[in-house]
Amino acid sequence: MNVIYPGSFDPVTYGHIDIIDRCAKQFDRVIVSVLNNTAKNYMFTIEERMDLLKKVLDKYENVEVDSFNGLLVDYANKKNCPLIVRGLRAVSDFEYEMQMAHVNKKLQENIETIYLVSREKFSYLSSSIVKEVAMYGGDISCFVPKEVEKALIEKINGGEK
Ligand code: ADP
Repeated sequence: MNVIYPGSFDPVTYGHIDIIDRCAKQFDRVIVSVLNNTAKNYMFTIEERMDLLKKVLDKYENVEVDSFNGLLVDYANKKNCPLIVRGLRAVSDFEYEMQMAHVNKKLQENIETIYLVSREKFSYLSSSIVKEVAMYGGDISCFVPKEVEKALIEKINGGEK
């Protein structure tokens, strides 16, 4: 059985990687799908976000990195994979996730969304908080792999290495 893990991954954190690692052990194939929503302001381009994911997920033979835009249900159809996984960090995630799951089910009856509860040590971690800490020069090495840390620092310094 395969599963799609959709998200912005702007950028990928240890919290995302933990969800992917746990899925890779339970499913035949994990399709990590980066959302390219033109209405959203991302720090990293779609290519950069995919590139970082590919680098940090290199050791997983059953994990694929892909991208999509438009409706997740249409993408899931195209990939022939009606199973979606999302991570739940706190009650604050729950409301939005439930709304999305209901909408997706309404759009397409055979779509199922499953949730993995975040590991306690990653439950406070989000891409936004990592970007904020990095912006103020804080140490982010415990939040993201070194490739991501490097890319974030370069981005904040305006491309200078
Ligand atoms: P989105 O913009 O779709 O929420 P994110 O890249 O922020 O995209 O997150 C993708 C998925 O990963 C979401 O289901 C989110 O709840 C989950 N996630 C994000 N950070 C963590 C974390 N620290 N632990 C577990 N799940 C997480």
